[in-house]
Amino acid sequence: MNRRKVLLIHPPVIRPCEPPPGIAKLAGALKRHGVEYNIIDANLEGLRSVCQNSVAVPDTWTRRAVTRVERNLEALIQPAAYQNLDRYKQAVLELNRVLTMQDRYRSTEVSLANYQDQNLSPVKSNDLIRALESPEKNPFFPYFEKRMSVVLENDRPGLVGFSLNFLSQALCTFAMIGVLRRLDPTVRIILGGGLITSWMRQPGWKNPFEGIIDELVAGEGEGALLSMLGIEGAAGFSLSDFAGFLPLPYFSPGFILPYSASSGCYWRRCAFCPERAEANPYRPVTPARVLSQLKTLICSLRPVLVHFTDNALSPALLKALCREPCAAPWYGFVRITQHLADPDFCRALKRSGCVMLQIGLESGSQKVLDGFCKGIDLKIAQKVLDNLKHAGIAAYVYLLFGTPWESESDAAKTLDFSVKNSGSITFLNLAIFNLPAFGPQTEALDTTPLDTGDLFLYRRFEHPTGWHRQHIRKFLENKFRRHPAIAPIIRNDPPVFTSSHAAFFTPSLL
Ligand code: SF4
Repeated sequence: MNRRKVLLIHPPVIRPCEPPPGIAKLAGALKRHGVEYNIIDANLEGLRSVCQNSVAVPDTWTRRAVTRVERNLEALIQPAAYQNLDRYKQAVLELNRVLTMQDRYRSTEVSLANYQDQNLSPVKSNDLIRALESPEKNPFFPYFEKRMSVVLENDRPGLVGFSLNFLSQALCTFAMIGVLRRLDPTVRIILGGGLITSWMRQPGWKNPFEGIIDELVAGEGEGALLSMLGIEGAAGFSLSDFAGFLPLPYFSPGFILPYSASSGCYWRRCAFCPERAEANPYRPVTPARVLSQLKTLICSLRPVLVHFTDNALSPALLKALCREPCAAPWYGFVRITQHLADPDFCRALKRSGCVMLQIGLESGSQKVLDGFCKGIDLKIAQKVLDNLKHAGIAAYVYLLFGTPWESESDAAKTLDFSVKNSGSITFLNLAIFNLPAFGPQTEALDTTPLDTGDLFLYRRFEHPTGWHRQHIRKFLENKFRRHPAIAPIIRNDPPVFTSSHAAFFTPSLL
């Protein structure tokens, strides 16, 4: 076995439309230090494998969907499917149907965007360990076993790194580790990613995986990974390496390049923000370096779209992009700022390649926004939406209901604001507030744990005005989504993939 050879794995399940940026970053660091490595997108491969090995079940819709698996898998990697929203929706929903129906006799449910198990919780360390001990109960097991056997045989890695970012990946990650351990108990395992970081930054964290996982890493993993390989003092800057991901059949009409121009958030003032609660520092890459890296990456990878994965693109970077346009269309999150209230600035952004901006507006009530410390003025927000529309940039607006400051009349104001600006809102995401388990604002509320697990991230709380989830759900279903000005916007959202594919349905990219 080659003690220095590394295998990096992106575990299921998240939307399989672009490569995982965290692993590409680790790959870049290994490449820079001359370490041999291989990558596996087990999310994409595993989902395709479950679809392709599906069997017909006795209902007409699923039977038809099963016969069309290959056709739909092929359609979703071709541009034509993205030129007709109805055809696209059919392909996505049929594949999703095949996935969810394959497991109807088990306790698990797989979809293109999620994984759930009625018997195991991803926020209980004991359940994660059970997933590791009985990986054959996981619906991806046949794929995991075959793939891991081949890679261990051919590559003989000494170190395997998993990037675990979302709860929907946790049980599958541990099942995959279980398969690896059975095949080769000597392989060393390192586990990092956003979810591991959130767990490790909780107060009173005690590692429940001692003796099971060799190393858990909070935050950026490059240093820890290199240190496990005996490469010390290796901090420094590496360009992400996407070469191994480039030929993979992601569900998109071409290669989407995920790029992060910063970690943390330059604003860091919003209440309940995990970036703040976890004390994640803001680390921007300088705009000059971003532009030069993008140039190199775009030149070699020829992406159809650049996805900025930052929590919020800084005004400094937006200005730099206006001066020196990106050579590929791009989208990402921004905060509502005075810059965007300038129509010329929005037109310059459009010329820079911007096709869509994601905006965490959260509420149409100024009182709620102020309580949240969002730093958003609704009059400016209205102007920004108007400017984006006139510049030809799609607005993907995120709204959040049920925050402690919100009452039903505030939610009605959010509906009024959305209706008034419906002509400038291209896509809408409606979410109900989840109270983070820890943080100073959480302590001020009357709370109980939402889950009984030791790794829970959210808490239930007694809403100060009684504006509870069941009322909010009714309001959203009966009033918000059905409003004649809102319903067409909701229908416009690509199912399952939502913002990840939305840019392909904007006039700029159609
Ligand atoms: S803009 Fe987003 S990431 Fe930044 S502080 Fe607010 S909620 Fe947090």
